[in-house]
Amino acid sequence: MQIPGFDEFITQYPVFEYRILETSEISVQERVRIVCEKECERYGTTWACPPGTGSLGECQERIHSYRHGLFFSSVAEVSDLFNMEEMLSTRKEHEKLTEEIQDYMKKQGLDCFILSTESCDICPTCTYPDSPCRYPEKMHPCLESHGVVVMELTEQQQMEYSLGGNSILWFSLILFRPLQKEEE
Ligand code: SF4
Repeated sequence: MQIPGFDEFITQYPVFEYRILETSEISVQERVRIVCEKECERYGTTWACPPGTGSLGECQERIHSYRHGLFFSSVAEVSDLFNMEEMLSTRKEHEKLTEEIQDYMKKQGLDCFILSTESCDICPTCTYPDSPCRYPEKMHPCLESHGVVVMELTEQQQMEYSLGGNSILWFSLILFRPLQKEEE
């Protein structure tokens, strides 16, 4: 599926590589979410993290309910790869870029759902698990929360996963489908 004017639009942005893929090509694996559980302090603290994102089966169903996805990367340079604060500060730029691309896609009549790099820190205190998310439209679960193995997807799509040196690649997947499908 083509996104009208997208090739021209995307040249304005520092996107390193992108692919438009069929979501049937995307498989999900529980082992990624086990890493979340074992290694991430945000696990079980927001609606953007497992298990708040639902079971693996529900995540797979959500992904496949959109027929296509725009999978892309952007590059950030840091002075020290081990400086977590500096590294995370570059993530915000990628998130802004992801939002801007989604805005364009929505203007083309597409219904979108973002999987990105975040857990969610929009609210000072998350409502999880007591009441629904306050801003479901603004909150973007990370790819891993849905069991997507980013390294495998880059291999499958013949994209770079890392560049070496002090460069970081951030990845997002914007799932999309024609808006009218929601109204059928
Ligand atoms: S938007 Fe607020 S309520 Fe929703 S996941 Fe993020 S922090 Fe939690």
